[in-house]
Amino acid sequence: YSAKRAGGNNFAFYHPDMSRDIERATFLQGKLEHALQHGLLRVHYQPIIALRHSQARRMQGAEALLRWDDSEWGWISPSEFIPLAEARGMIHRVGDWTLSEVCRQIRRWKDAALSPNGRISVNISAQQIERVDFVDHISRLVRNAGIAPADLELELTERVLIKNPQAAWQVGQELSARGFLLSIDDFGTHYSSLEQLQRIPAQKLKLDMVFIRDMLKSPKHFKLVQSIIRMAHSMQMRTVAEGVENVQQALALAEMGCNQAQGFLFSRALAADELADHWLMPAFSRTQH
Ligand code: C2E
Ligand code: MG
Ligand code: MG
Ligand code: MG
Repeated sequence: YSAKRAGGNNFAFYHPDMSRDIERATFLQGKLEHALQHGLLRVHYQPIIALRHSQARRMQGAEALLRWDDSEWGWISPSEFIPLAEARGMIHRVGDWTLSEVCRQIRRWKDAALSPNGRISVNISAQQIERVDFVDHISRLVRNAGIAPADLELELTERVLIKNPQAAWQVGQELSARGFLLSIDDFGTHYSSLEQLQRIPAQKLKLDMVFIRDMLKSPKHFKLVQSIIRMAHSMQMRTVAEGVENVQQALALAEMGCNQAQGFLFSRALAADELADHWLMPAFSRTQH
């Protein structure tokens, strides 16, 4: 299939699949617009679990993950609609909605005397932190919801550090000065330098699940996981393993000193009510007995 045969001034490497992709993206954009306006997005929460033997299986926080169930197309993955929202100028509205919803949910749990026992992590896109008033903006959302910055942990992907190291550093400093906690998400997949990593005031490093998936099959990956954990600890960062699916992985990670884990072994992401039923504790249980 060539542009010449198709005739006209078509892009030389045009392929029929591309037009299908663009078509889907355009439909999806319209659907996402509709979903935003009609409140059809949801936030689910995946527990983050302590790996230390003494506290094993205790929830120490949860990650907020967007969920979108379209009436026509069914479940649409954030891996598809987040990049689309980024490309089509919608990420600020999606991000704002998510942040406000998470803040409101934390407030609802507190009002019900439930404690998430740890912080709720929220994923932040590069474009969000590039916004000049991002720090004021998020501070306002948190204040309006009646919660504290320390109730939240902001996940920045390693990609953010590379794309705009200056902004990442500046915003990182300001956020951390206001009491927000930061973590580096998907670590190991984007080649940030140790220099960049060391400049960001992050408390946590999340190892991407590709490493966890292969760590027991490949000695190379095993050693890589081991050295990332050591390196993070030497930089005073705690470590979280993503995508832990079996007990063997959890045991190996605990052995390596990895602090926390998240994955289907413990729980998938749950609706706020389900999380409350299975994982949240009464806010004052520790002082009551
Ligand atoms: P992420 O931030 O790295 O989130 C972890 C992803 O791993 C989630 O996928 C989660 O469901 C999945 N996961 C957790 N445990 C396991 C496991 O044991 N096995 C496997 N196979 N997967 C596991 P999800 O929810 O599909 O989200 C994909 C990505 O979309 C997220 O990756 C994040 O980059 C992005 N995303 C989701 N919600 C938001 C949001 O509110 N804002 C932004 N900017 N990005 C978001
Ligand atoms: Mg994340
Ligand atoms: Mg991640
Ligand atoms: Mg990931």
